[in-house]
Amino acid sequence: MSFQRENVVPVTVAHGDGIGPEITGAVVRILLASGARLYIEPVQIGKTVYECGVSSGIGPEAWESVRRTKVLLKGPVTTPQGGGLKSVNVTLRKTMGLYANVRPCQAYAPYVHTRHPGMDVVIIRENEEDLYAGIEHRQTDEVMQCLKLITRPGCQRIVRYAFEYARLHGRKRLTCITKDNIMKLTDGLFHKIFDEIGGDYPDITQDHMIVDIAAARLADTPQDFDMIVTTNLYGDILSDIAAQVAGSVGLAGSANIGNDVAMFEAIHGSAPLIAGKDIANPSGMLQAAVMLLIHIGQADVAERVQNAWLRTIESGIHTEDVYQDGVSRVCVGTRAFADAVIKNLGEKPQSLHAVAFADSAAPLGKTLREDFAISRETPAEKTLVGVDIFLHWGGNSADELAMKISDIHSESLRLEMITNRGVKVWPDGVPETFKTDHWRCRFKAKTPDGTIRHSDIVSLMAKMTGFRLDFIKSENLCDFDGVPGYAMGQGQ
Ligand code: NAD
Repeated sequence: MSFQRENVVPVTVAHGDGIGPEITGAVVRILLASGARLYIEPVQIGKTVYECGVSSGIGPEAWESVRRTKVLLKGPVTTPQGGGLKSVNVTLRKTMGLYANVRPCQAYAPYVHTRHPGMDVVIIRENEEDLYAGIEHRQTDEVMQCLKLITRPGCQRIVRYAFEYARLHGRKRLTCITKDNIMKLTDGLFHKIFDEIGGDYPDITQDHMIVDIAAARLADTPQDFDMIVTTNLYGDILSDIAAQVAGSVGLAGSANIGNDVAMFEAIHGSAPLIAGKDIANPSGMLQAAVMLLIHIGQADVAERVQNAWLRTIESGIHTEDVYQDGVSRVCVGTRAFADAVIKNLGEKPQSLHAVAFADSAAPLGKTLREDFAISRETPAEKTLVGVDIFLHWGGNSADELAMKISDIHSESLRLEMITNRGVKVWPDGVPETFKTDHWRCRFKAKTPDGTIRHSDIVSLMAKMTGFRLDFIKSENLCDFDGVPGYAMGQGQ
C-alpha cells in the first residue's frame, strides 16, 4: 500500500462519546496540519456500538484495526454507572495487555492557574489488575463482593516499567503507593516487589507511602513527588487529583502501553454535560497525541506540536475550563483553540520551557522484554491446611451458628473461627459488632500432620447441605513453604 512506501504510519482513531468527537476531531486536524506522517483509520467504539447490540462496545472491525495498526488514539467513552455494560476502556486495556498507564501531570504557571507552579509528576498506574478485574458477585441479600486480584508477574511488569521509565527520562525519585498496612497480602505483594526490583536501580531514590497520606500530600505539596508507581484504583484516583491540582483534568493525556499495542487518550471522561457545545478543552487529548507521535518514532513532529501548544497556552488563548481574568487574553471554543495551535506550528514558547524531544528522543513507548520484566519463581511447596466457607445465613447469633456447625461431624476439620464482614464474632465475640447475613466459617485441619485433602472440603460441604446451610463460596487455606497464604480474622 502507498502509505507503507512513504513511511506513513497507520493509526486507528476512535472518536468516542460525549465531547470525544469534538476533541478528537480538533486533535486530528492539528496532527494533519503538523506534518505527522500518519494514515488515519477511523473506527467506532462506545455508546453507538453498544446501541447496535455489541455488548463489549467494540465491534470486530475496530478490533481488527487496532490489532493490525497496534496504535490507537481514543476519545473518551461513556460507561454506564452502577449497572449495565462493562467499560470499553478497561476491556481494551486488558484485552490488548496494555499494562502500563503513563500519566504525566505538569503545571503551566502562570498561564494556567495552579497553587503549585513547580509541579511535574509522572504517575505510572498498573492497568490490568486490582479491583478492575471486574469480578463481582452478589452473595447474599445484603452483601456484594468485588475481587481484588494482584499478581506477582503483574507487579513485576509495572514496577520494572516504572524504574526503566525513570532512567530513560532522567527522573530521580520513584514513590511506591499502596495500602499494605491493611491489605497485607495484595498491596503487600506490590510493595515487596517494588523493594525487590528497586535493588537493581540504586541510581533512583526510592520510597513508599500509604495511599491516604500520599493523596493528601499530592493535593497539598505535589512538588515533593517526581514519579509515582501504584496499583490500578489508587492510580486512577491519584492521577485525577494530580491533573486537577496542576491546572485542569482537561490538560492531561495518558499512554496505555503494552508489549504489542499502545493506546493514547486524555485522562478525563466524556463530559456529557458540555458535549456538543464546542467548549471542551482538547489539550488532554493533544498531550496524548504527542505521546503517540513519540511512540511511533515521530519525535520531531511531537516536538513541533507540543511547542505550538505551549506557545498557544502562554499567549493566553484558553478554553473556558482554564480561562482566568487578568491572565487569559481570549476565551475560545474547541475548534478555535485547535486553529490557534495550528497557526503556531513552527513557533516555540517564549516564556514556558520549549521541549526538545527530537534530541532526547526518549522512547516513551519502549516496552520491556517479557523475560527481563518477569522472573518466575520456583513453585512453592503448597499445603492445604484448612478452608474458609462463606455462608448466607439470616440469623444474628454467631454462637447459634457455631452450635449448628458443631453438629456436623468432620474427621479432618474443626471450626476455628467465625467472622462477619471480616471481624471475629466467634469464639468470644462482643454484642456491639454489627452483623449482616454473610458469615465466614474458618475450618482448620485437625489431622496429626495439620494438612487435609480437597476431598475433605468437598465432604464437609456436602454435609453442610444436609444441615440446610447455604454456602456461597469457599476459599482454600494454604501454606506456601510453610508461610500462611491467608490473612487472620480482624480481632483474631
Ligand atoms: P469527566 O472527566 O467526563 O468530567 C469531570 C469534569 O471535568 C466535568 O465537570 C467535565 O465537564 C470536566 N471536563 C472533563 N474533560 C474536560 C475537557 N476536556 N474540557 C473541559 N472540561 C472537562 O468525568 P465524569 O463526569 O465522572 O465521567 C463522564 C463519563 O466519562 C462517564 O461515563 C465515565 O465512565 C466516562 N469516563 C471515561 C473515561 C475514558 O474514556 N478513559 C475516563 C473517565 C471517565
